[in-house]
Amino acid sequence: MKLVRFGEAGREKPGLVDAQGQVRDLSGLVPDITGGTLSTEALNRIRQADLSSLPVAPSGQRLGACVGQVRNFIAIGLNYADHAAETGAAIPAEPIVFNKAPSCIVGPNDDVIIPRGSQKTDWEVELAIVIGERASYIGANEALEFVAGYCVCNDVSEREFQIERGGTWTKGKGCPTFGPLGPWLVTKDEIPDPQNLSMWLDVNGERVQNGSTKTMIFNVAQIVSYVSHFMILEPGDVITTGTPPGVGMGMKPQRFLKAGDVVSLGIEGLGEQRQRVVAFEGNAVDTSKSWKGH
Ligand code: ZN
Repeated sequence: MKLVRFGEAGREKPGLVDAQGQVRDLSGLVPDITGGTLSTEALNRIRQADLSSLPVAPSGQRLGACVGQVRNFIAIGLNYADHAAETGAAIPAEPIVFNKAPSCIVGPNDDVIIPRGSQKTDWEVELAIVIGERASYIGANEALEFVAGYCVCNDVSEREFQIERGGTWTKGKGCPTFGPLGPWLVTKDEIPDPQNLSMWLDVNGERVQNGSTKTMIFNVAQIVSYVSHFMILEPGDVITTGTPPGVGMGMKPQRFLKAGDVVSLGIEGLGEQRQRVVAFEGNAVDTSKSWKGH
């Protein structure tokens, strides 16, 4: 199934893309697409519904992030051998785990805002895992049982905040709008092999990332198992799994996003996103105070 959330930001309704590509409104069956609707049992109830009886959503609706009320938005760093090489980093011996603020999650085609003071906003196409069942200390051999499905994620990143400002990567990863998710949450039955998906990202129509989940260092099952040894994963949590080569930071000379750019990206079987890049205008957060507190 391809699950979506459609409508105005903050007021999205749950939906399902039918065989004709129309969005069917699921709000008569479930309140939203969140952790509470992603267990195997809950997904089976949606699966058994008579789709033809559900209303078709009006066309041209905005899509929200394909999962709502995400509590943990975890990311894996340097998880592609070829991307680690382009950044000059060693292949990690264990997965690099960092947080993206759940408040950065937006719809797949919403604007990406360059943060205040940013010179180095960058792109990263990634396969994201959506958790379906509570997972704690699970093995890699059973990990996929805890996965509801997958979606495309643009792990938008500010490289100065991430790398040059000290501490962990978190500062450069959770700025407002840095987490487009969707268009669809594709349930795992439709993605029998998550380690063989082509993926790409264009900036202004120019292909800059062209990769495959084949070159992941740690695979989906290993990642879910690994993270579950450090925290309880709850239904609706999202883990984004790293990016292939072709980010702006790795280019010579380096290249970063500017207002007016258009980023489009996709993964085989998971659909496509398209974001317009806009300048910070102070409407996303209160800019009246500097971080120094005056
Ligand atoms: Zn990333």
